[in-house]
Amino acid sequence: MTERFLDGRQAFVTGGTSGIGLAIAQGLAAAGARVAINGLGDADAIGAAIESLRHAGAADARHWGADLRDAAAIEAMLAELQAWGRTDIVVNCAGMQFTGSIESMPRERWDAILAINLSAAFQTMQALLPSMAQRGYGRIINIASVHGLVASVQKAPYVASKFGLVGLTKVAALEYASAGSRDSGGVTANCICPGWVETPLIESQIQARAAQHGNDRAAGIADLLSEKQPSRRMSSTDDIAALSLFLCRREAHNINGASLPVDGAWTAQ
Ligand code: NAD
Repeated sequence: MTERFLDGRQAFVTGGTSGIGLAIAQGLAAAGARVAINGLGDADAIGAAIESLRHAGAADARHWGADLRDAAAIEAMLAELQAWGRTDIVVNCAGMQFTGSIESMPRERWDAILAINLSAAFQTMQALLPSMAQRGYGRIINIASVHGLVASVQKAPYVASKFGLVGLTKVAALEYASAGSRDSGGVTANCICPGWVETPLIESQIQARAAQHGNDRAAGIADLLSEKQPSRRMSSTDDIAALSLFLCRREAHNINGASLPVDGAWTAQ
C-alpha cells in the first residue's frame, strides 16, 4: 500500500525488530507515519530495520530496546516516546513462545511469557490511550493469535497470555468506544489472531517437524499445517500488515473490540 493516509500520524510497534511487527512497521511507514519500534536484536539487525522504515517512507523512525519483562524499563521508554511525539497507533506485537506440558513448565517461562505477551500491552495501552481519546483518533492493534480463541496442548502460558490479550482488548474497546467521531476516526482496540505465519517465532516448531521427515523443511511445514490450518498455507507477514493497515483507516472507526482470525479456517472447525 503506497497511499500516504497516515501522514502526520505517529505509530509505536512493539516486536518491531522482526517478523510480523517489522512488516507492520514497514506498512505504517509506507503509509507516511513516523514509526517507533521496540524490540530486541543485535545492533546490525536493528540498524537495518530502521533503515528499512526510512526506505519504506517513514516520516521519521526510532528504536527503543526496552526489555518488556521489565516494567520500569517500559515506563522509561514510554516517557521518552511521549516526549518524541503523540502516539496515534500502538501495535502490541512483541511475543514469546515456549512449548511444554503444564507439569513441566518452568515458572520463569510462565512469568516471562505473561509479562511480554500480556502485561506489556496493558502498560502501553494504559499510558497511550488517554491522549488518543483527547484527540479523537487512536488505534490499538494487539497481535494475539488463534491461541487467543482456541487452545492447543503444550502451550499453557502462551494460550493464557493470548486469551488475556483478547479480553484486555475488549475492555479497552468498551472504555473508549465513544471517543472521537466518524470524521475524526474514533478510538478502537482490536486483536488480530493469526494462525501459522512463517517467522523466527515458530522456527523451532518447524525444525522439530522437519526432523520427523528426514530434515525436509517443506515436509515439516506441510505436516504442521495439516494438523490445524485447513487452507494448508502459511500467512505471510505482509498479509498481517495489510489487515493492520486497514484497521488504521478512518473507515474502520466501527471495527472495535474484534478478534479477527487470519488462520485459514483453523477456528472455523
Ligand atoms: P518474531 O520472533 O519474529 O518477533 C518477536 C518480536 O518480539 C521480536 O521483535 C522480539 O525482539 C520481540 N521480543 C521478544 N521478547 C522480547 C522482550 N523480552 N522485550 C522486548 N521485545 C521482545 O515472531 P513473530 O512471529 O513475528 O511474532 C510476533 C507476534 O505474533 C507475537 O506476539 C506472536 O505471538 C504472534 N503470532 C505469531 C504467529 C506465527 O505463526 N508466527 C502466530 C500467531 C501469533
